[in-house]
Amino acid sequence: MTEHAITGTTQLVGLIGWPVSHSRSPRMHNAAFAALGLDWAYVPLPAPPDRVPQAVRGLVALGFRGANVTVPHKQTVMAQLDVLTPAARAAGAVNTITVRADGTLCGDTTDGRGFLADLREQCVTPRRALLLGSGGAARSVAYALAETGVDVLVAARSVAKATDLCEALADQLPPRAGRITAHGLPRNLRACSTDADLVVNATSLGLHADDPLPWDPNVPIRPNQVVYDLVYTHTTPLMSLAARQGARAIGGLGMLVHQGALALTQWTGLEAPIGVMRAAIED
Ligand code: NDP
Repeated sequence: MTEHAITGTTQLVGLIGWPVSHSRSPRMHNAAFAALGLDWAYVPLPAPPDRVPQAVRGLVALGFRGANVTVPHKQTVMAQLDVLTPAARAAGAVNTITVRADGTLCGDTTDGRGFLADLREQCVTPRRALLLGSGGAARSVAYALAETGVDVLVAARSVAKATDLCEALADQLPPRAGRITAHGLPRNLRACSTDADLVVNATSLGLHADDPLPWDPNVPIRPNQVVYDLVYTHTTPLMSLAARQGARAIGGLGMLVHQGALALTQWTGLEAPIGVMRAAIED
Protein backbone atom coordinates (compact mmCIF):
# COMPACT_ATOMS: atom_id res chain seq x y z
CA MET A 1 0.00 0.00 0.00
CA THR A 2 1.28 3.52 -0.83
CA GLU A 3 2.47 5.57 2.17
CA HIS A 4 0.83 8.96 2.63
CA ALA A 5 1.64 11.35 5.47
CA ILE A 6 -1.50 12.96 6.92
CA THR A 7 -0.73 16.60 7.64
CA GLY A 8 -2.60 19.63 8.93
CA THR A 9 -3.71 20.42 5.38
CA THR A 10 -4.85 16.96 4.28
CA GLN A 11 -8.33 17.06 2.72
CA LEU A 12 -10.68 14.36 3.98
CA VAL A 13 -13.38 12.21 2.45
CA GLY A 14 -14.78 9.01 3.90
CA LEU A 15 -17.20 6.13 3.81
CA ILE A 16 -20.35 6.28 5.96
CA GLY A 17 -21.87 2.85 6.62
CA TRP A 18 -22.43 0.24 9.32
CA PRO A 19 -20.22 -1.71 9.30
CA VAL A 20 -17.47 -0.40 7.02
CA SER A 21 -14.44 -2.37 8.16
CA HIS A 22 -14.74 -4.84 5.25
CA SER A 23 -14.79 -2.14 2.56
CA ARG A 24 -12.15 -1.94 -0.17
CA SER A 25 -13.05 1.68 -0.96
CA PRO A 26 -10.40 3.29 1.31
CA ARG A 27 -7.68 1.30 -0.44
CA MET A 28 -9.04 2.20 -3.89
CA HIS A 29 -9.43 5.93 -3.24
CA ASN A 30 -6.19 6.40 -1.33
CA ALA A 31 -4.28 4.74 -4.19
CA ALA A 32 -5.99 7.15 -6.60
CA PHE A 33 -5.12 10.21 -4.46
CA ALA A 34 -1.48 9.06 -4.32
CA ALA A 35 -1.37 8.55 -8.11
CA LEU A 36 -2.83 12.04 -8.64
CA GLY A 37 -0.34 13.58 -6.16
CA LEU A 38 -3.22 14.88 -4.01
CA ASP A 39 -2.89 15.55 -0.28
CA TRP A 40 -6.23 13.86 0.33
CA ALA A 41 -7.20 10.87 2.49
CA TYR A 42 -10.22 8.55 2.47
CA VAL A 43 -11.19 7.21 5.87
CA PRO A 44 -13.82 4.76 7.19
CA LEU A 45 -16.68 6.50 9.03
CA PRO A 46 -18.69 3.80 10.82
CA ALA A 47 -22.03 5.32 11.82
CA PRO A 48 -24.60 3.34 13.84
CA PRO A 49 -28.15 3.72 12.50
CA ASP A 50 -29.30 6.06 15.29
CA ARG A 51 -26.39 8.47 14.61
CA VAL A 52 -26.76 8.93 10.85
CA PRO A 53 -28.07 12.54 11.00
CA GLN A 54 -25.17 13.63 13.23
CA ALA A 55 -22.66 11.78 11.05
CA VAL A 56 -23.86 13.44 7.85
CA ARG A 57 -24.09 16.97 9.26
CA GLY A 58 -20.70 16.35 10.92
CA LEU A 59 -19.10 16.24 7.48
CA VAL A 60 -19.66 19.99 7.16
CA ALA A 61 -18.62 20.76 10.74
CA LEU A 62 -15.38 18.82 10.35
CA GLY A 63 -14.43 20.25 6.96
CA PHE A 64 -14.81 17.02 4.99
CA ARG A 65 -14.97 17.42 1.20
CA GLY A 66 -17.47 14.59 0.85
CA ALA A 67 -18.26 10.98 1.55
CA ASN A 68 -19.47 7.77 0.05
CA VAL A 69 -22.45 6.06 1.65
CA THR A 70 -22.96 2.33 1.85
CA VAL A 71 -25.35 -0.21 3.35
CA PRO A 72 -27.57 0.34 5.33
CA HIS A 73 -27.59 4.16 5.08
CA LYS A 74 -28.06 4.85 1.36
CA GLN A 75 -31.70 5.89 1.90
CA THR A 76 -31.57 7.32 5.41
CA VAL A 77 -28.89 9.92 4.62
CA MET A 78 -31.19 11.58 2.08
CA ALA A 79 -33.20 13.50 4.67
CA GLN A 80 -30.02 15.32 5.76
CA LEU A 81 -29.02 16.57 2.32
CA ASP A 82 -29.75 20.00 0.82
CA VAL A 83 -29.80 18.97 -2.86
CA LEU A 84 -30.30 15.67 -4.69
CA THR A 85 -29.30 14.99 -8.29
CA PRO A 86 -31.97 13.60 -10.65
CA ALA A 87 -30.24 10.20 -10.53
CA ALA A 88 -30.39 10.12 -6.72
CA ARG A 89 -34.03 11.19 -6.73
CA ALA A 90 -34.89 8.49 -9.27
CA ALA A 91 -32.91 5.79 -7.46
CA GLY A 92 -34.25 6.86 -4.07
CA ALA A 93 -30.71 6.38 -2.75
CA VAL A 94 -27.43 8.25 -2.33
CA ASN A 95 -23.96 6.74 -2.48
CA THR A 96 -21.96 9.97 -2.89
CA ILE A 97 -22.20 13.19 -0.86
CA THR A 98 -20.30 16.31 -1.89
CA VAL A 99 -19.79 19.19 0.54
CA ARG A 100 -20.08 22.31 -1.58
CA ALA A 101 -18.13 25.52 -1.06
CA ASP A 102 -21.11 27.17 0.68
CA GLY A 103 -21.38 24.28 3.16
CA THR A 104 -24.44 22.69 1.59
CA LEU A 105 -24.59 18.96 0.97
CA CYS A 106 -25.35 17.47 -2.45
CA GLY A 107 -26.38 13.81 -2.75
CA ASP A 108 -25.88 11.73 -5.89
CA THR A 109 -25.79 8.07 -6.83
CA THR A 110 -22.98 6.97 -9.10
CA ASP A 111 -23.98 3.28 -9.05
CA GLY A 112 -26.03 3.37 -12.27
CA ARG A 113 -23.53 5.48 -14.21
CA GLY A 114 -20.70 3.31 -12.87
CA PHE A 115 -22.53 0.27 -14.22
CA LEU A 116 -22.95 1.93 -17.64
CA ALA A 117 -19.30 3.00 -17.71
CA ASP A 118 -18.24 -0.58 -17.11
CA LEU A 119 -20.60 -1.86 -19.83
CA ARG A 120 -19.00 0.63 -22.24
CA GLU A 121 -15.51 -0.46 -21.19
CA GLN A 122 -16.55 -4.07 -21.79
CA CYS A 123 -18.00 -3.10 -25.22
CA VAL A 124 -21.48 -4.33 -24.25
CA THR A 125 -24.25 -2.33 -25.99
CA PRO A 126 -27.59 -3.83 -24.92
CA ARG A 127 -30.97 -3.08 -26.43
CA ARG A 128 -33.13 -5.08 -24.04
CA ALA A 129 -32.07 -5.95 -20.48
CA LEU A 130 -33.57 -8.39 -18.01
CA LEU A 131 -32.87 -7.04 -14.54
CA LEU A 132 -33.27 -9.47 -11.62
CA GLY A 133 -34.20 -7.80 -8.31
CA SER A 134 -35.97 -4.65 -7.20
CA GLY A 135 -33.74 -3.28 -4.41
CA GLY A 136 -31.54 -0.18 -4.31
CA ALA A 137 -28.94 -1.32 -6.84
CA ALA A 138 -31.64 -2.57 -9.22
CA ARG A 139 -33.29 0.83 -9.12
CA SER A 140 -30.06 2.69 -9.98
CA VAL A 141 -29.21 0.28 -12.79
CA ALA A 142 -32.77 0.30 -14.19
CA TYR A 143 -32.77 4.10 -14.33
CA ALA A 144 -29.32 4.27 -15.96
CA LEU A 145 -30.18 1.67 -18.61
CA ALA A 146 -33.61 3.09 -19.44
CA GLU A 147 -32.25 6.65 -19.56
CA THR A 148 -29.92 5.60 -22.37
CA GLY A 149 -32.80 4.05 -24.35
CA VAL A 150 -32.47 0.40 -23.30
CA ASP A 151 -35.76 -1.46 -22.69
CA VAL A 152 -35.67 -2.89 -19.17
CA LEU A 153 -37.66 -5.84 -17.84
CA VAL A 154 -37.54 -5.66 -14.05
CA ALA A 155 -38.16 -9.17 -12.68
CA ALA A 156 -38.42 -9.82 -8.94
CA ARG A 157 -39.91 -12.35 -6.55
CA SER A 158 -42.32 -9.62 -5.47
CA VAL A 159 -44.11 -8.32 -8.55
CA ALA A 160 -45.55 -5.55 -6.37
CA LYS A 161 -42.04 -4.26 -5.59
CA ALA A 162 -41.04 -4.53 -9.25
CA THR A 163 -44.16 -2.57 -10.19
CA ASP A 164 -43.43 0.11 -7.58
CA LEU A 165 -39.92 0.47 -8.96
CA CYS A 166 -41.15 0.82 -12.55
CA GLU A 167 -43.86 3.34 -11.64
CA ALA A 168 -41.43 5.45 -9.61
CA LEU A 169 -38.87 5.50 -12.42
CA ALA A 170 -41.33 6.05 -15.24
CA ASP A 171 -42.15 9.46 -13.72
CA GLN A 172 -38.50 10.51 -13.68
CA LEU A 173 -37.26 9.26 -17.05
CA PRO A 174 -36.71 11.59 -20.03
CA PRO A 175 -39.04 11.38 -23.08
CA ARG A 176 -36.93 9.10 -25.30
CA ALA A 177 -36.05 6.60 -22.55
CA GLY A 178 -36.42 2.85 -22.96
CA ARG A 179 -39.58 1.06 -21.83
CA ILE A 180 -39.52 -0.28 -18.28
CA THR A 181 -41.86 -3.11 -17.29
CA ALA A 182 -42.42 -5.23 -14.18
CA HIS A 183 -42.56 -9.06 -14.01
CA GLY A 184 -42.83 -11.71 -11.31
CA LEU A 185 -40.26 -14.44 -10.67
CA PRO A 186 -39.80 -17.33 -11.05
CA ARG A 187 -42.94 -17.69 -13.20
CA ASN A 188 -42.03 -15.20 -15.92
CA LEU A 189 -38.30 -15.89 -16.19
CA ARG A 190 -38.44 -17.89 -19.42
CA ALA A 191 -40.66 -15.38 -21.22
CA CYS A 192 -38.62 -12.40 -20.00
CA SER A 193 -35.27 -13.89 -20.97
CA THR A 194 -36.28 -14.74 -24.54
CA ASP A 195 -35.40 -11.42 -26.17
CA ALA A 196 -33.01 -9.99 -23.60
CA ASP A 197 -29.42 -9.53 -24.78
CA LEU A 198 -28.28 -8.55 -21.28
CA VAL A 199 -29.18 -10.24 -17.97
CA VAL A 200 -28.25 -8.34 -14.80
CA ASN A 201 -28.33 -9.93 -11.37
CA ALA A 202 -29.15 -7.10 -8.97
CA THR A 203 -30.47 -9.39 -6.23
CA SER A 204 -28.21 -10.05 -3.28
CA LEU A 205 -28.16 -13.76 -4.20
CA GLY A 206 -24.66 -15.00 -4.99
CA LEU A 207 -22.99 -13.05 -2.22
CA HIS A 208 -22.96 -16.03 0.16
CA ALA A 209 -21.88 -19.61 -0.60
CA ASP A 210 -25.21 -21.15 0.45
CA ASP A 211 -27.42 -18.74 -1.56
CA PRO A 212 -29.80 -20.30 -4.09
CA LEU A 213 -29.30 -19.34 -7.74
CA PRO A 214 -31.23 -16.21 -8.80
CA TRP A 215 -32.03 -18.15 -11.99
CA ASP A 216 -33.99 -21.33 -12.78
CA PRO A 217 -31.37 -23.65 -14.32
CA ASN A 218 -34.07 -25.17 -16.56
CA VAL A 219 -34.24 -21.86 -18.43
CA PRO A 220 -31.35 -21.73 -20.90
CA ILE A 221 -28.89 -18.85 -21.01
CA ARG A 222 -28.02 -18.26 -24.66
CA PRO A 223 -24.48 -17.75 -25.99
CA ASN A 224 -25.47 -14.36 -27.40
CA GLN A 225 -26.56 -13.12 -23.97
CA VAL A 226 -24.26 -11.27 -21.58
CA VAL A 227 -24.78 -12.01 -17.89
CA TYR A 228 -23.64 -9.25 -15.54
CA ASP A 229 -23.62 -10.02 -11.82
CA LEU A 230 -23.37 -7.00 -9.53
CA VAL A 231 -21.65 -9.14 -6.88
CA TYR A 232 -18.01 -8.04 -7.05
CA THR A 233 -16.18 -10.26 -4.59
CA HIS A 234 -15.98 -13.51 -6.57
CA THR A 235 -17.22 -15.49 -9.57
CA THR A 236 -20.80 -16.35 -8.62
CA PRO A 237 -22.65 -19.59 -9.42
CA LEU A 238 -24.79 -17.59 -11.91
CA MET A 239 -21.65 -16.43 -13.71
CA SER A 240 -20.36 -20.01 -13.82
CA LEU A 241 -23.70 -21.26 -15.16
CA ALA A 242 -23.64 -18.59 -17.88
CA ALA A 243 -20.08 -19.45 -18.86
CA ARG A 244 -20.93 -23.17 -19.05
CA GLN A 245 -23.74 -22.35 -21.48
CA GLY A 246 -21.39 -20.34 -23.70
CA ALA A 247 -22.51 -16.86 -22.59
CA ARG A 248 -20.22 -14.05 -21.53
CA ALA A 249 -20.22 -13.47 -17.75
CA ILE A 250 -19.07 -10.25 -16.11
CA GLY A 251 -18.75 -9.57 -12.36
CA GLY A 252 -19.43 -6.28 -10.56
CA LEU A 253 -15.84 -5.22 -9.86
CA GLY A 254 -15.70 -2.86 -12.83
CA MET A 255 -18.92 -1.19 -11.67
CA LEU A 256 -17.43 -0.75 -8.20
CA VAL A 257 -14.33 0.89 -9.68
CA HIS A 258 -16.32 3.19 -11.96
CA GLN A 259 -18.83 4.28 -9.30
CA GLY A 260 -15.83 5.19 -7.13
CA ALA A 261 -14.11 6.98 -10.00
CA LEU A 262 -17.21 9.11 -10.64
CA ALA A 263 -17.37 10.04 -6.94
CA LEU A 264 -13.68 10.98 -6.91
CA THR A 265 -14.20 13.25 -9.92
CA GLN A 266 -17.11 14.97 -8.17
CA TRP A 267 -15.00 15.71 -5.11
CA THR A 268 -11.74 16.72 -6.81
CA GLY A 269 -12.77 17.87 -10.29
CA LEU A 270 -10.06 15.59 -11.69
CA GLU A 271 -10.21 12.61 -14.01
CA ALA A 272 -9.89 9.45 -11.94
CA PRO A 273 -7.01 7.01 -12.57
CA ILE A 274 -9.20 4.00 -13.36
CA GLY A 275 -6.30 1.55 -13.82
CA VAL A 276 -4.75 2.48 -10.46
CA MET A 277 -8.11 2.13 -8.70
CA ARG A 278 -8.78 -1.25 -10.28
CA ALA A 279 -5.30 -2.54 -9.38
CA ALA A 280 -5.70 -1.35 -5.77
CA ILE A 281 -9.00 -3.13 -5.35
CA GLU A 282 -7.78 -6.36 -6.96
CA ASP A 283 -4.62 -6.38 -4.87
P1 NDP B 1 -31.08 -4.65 -1.53
O1 NDP B 1 -31.12 -5.33 -0.21
O2 NDP B 1 -31.58 -3.25 -1.67
O3 NDP B 1 -31.86 -5.54 -2.64
C1 NDP B 1 -31.68 -6.92 -2.69
C2 NDP B 1 -32.61 -7.50 -3.75
O4 NDP B 1 -32.39 -8.93 -3.75
C3 NDP B 1 -34.11 -7.31 -3.47
O5 NDP B 1 -34.79 -7.14 -4.70
C4 NDP B 1 -34.50 -8.62 -2.81
O6 NDP B 1 -35.85 -8.95 -2.95
C5 NDP B 1 -33.65 -9.59 -3.62
N1 NDP B 1 -33.51 -10.87 -2.94
C6 NDP B 1 -32.93 -11.08 -1.75
N2 NDP B 1 -33.04 -12.40 -1.42
C7 NDP B 1 -33.73 -12.99 -2.44
C8 NDP B 1 -34.17 -14.32 -2.70
N3 NDP B 1 -33.93 -15.33 -1.83
N4 NDP B 1 -34.84 -14.57 -3.86
C9 NDP B 1 -35.08 -13.56 -4.74
N5 NDP B 1 -34.70 -12.29 -4.55
C10 NDP B 1 -34.02 -12.01 -3.42
O7 NDP B 1 -29.53 -4.74 -1.98
P2 NDP B 1 -28.76 -3.81 -3.03
O8 NDP B 1 -29.70 -3.52 -4.14
O9 NDP B 1 -28.09 -2.70 -2.33
O10 NDP B 1 -27.59 -4.80 -3.53
C11 NDP B 1 -27.87 -5.91 -4.38
C12 NDP B 1 -26.54 -6.55 -4.81
O11 NDP B 1 -25.81 -5.62 -5.61
C13 NDP B 1 -25.62 -6.92 -3.63
O12 NDP B 1 -24.98 -8.13 -3.94
C14 NDP B 1 -24.60 -5.78 -3.62
O13 NDP B 1 -23.35 -6.18 -3.07
C15 NDP B 1 -24.47 -5.50 -5.12
N6 NDP B 1 -23.99 -4.14 -5.40
C16 NDP B 1 -22.87 -4.03 -6.18
C17 NDP B 1 -22.37 -2.79 -6.51
C18 NDP B 1 -21.15 -2.70 -7.37
O14 NDP B 1 -20.55 -1.60 -7.45
N7 NDP B 1 -20.75 -3.77 -8.02
C19 NDP B 1 -23.02 -1.55 -6.05
C20 NDP B 1 -24.23 -1.78 -5.26
C21 NDP B 1 -24.68 -3.04 -4.95
P3 NDP B 1 -36.93 -8.46 -1.82
O15 NDP B 1 -37.02 -6.97 -1.98
O16 NDP B 1 -38.17 -9.20 -2.21
O17 NDP B 1 -36.38 -8.87 -0.49
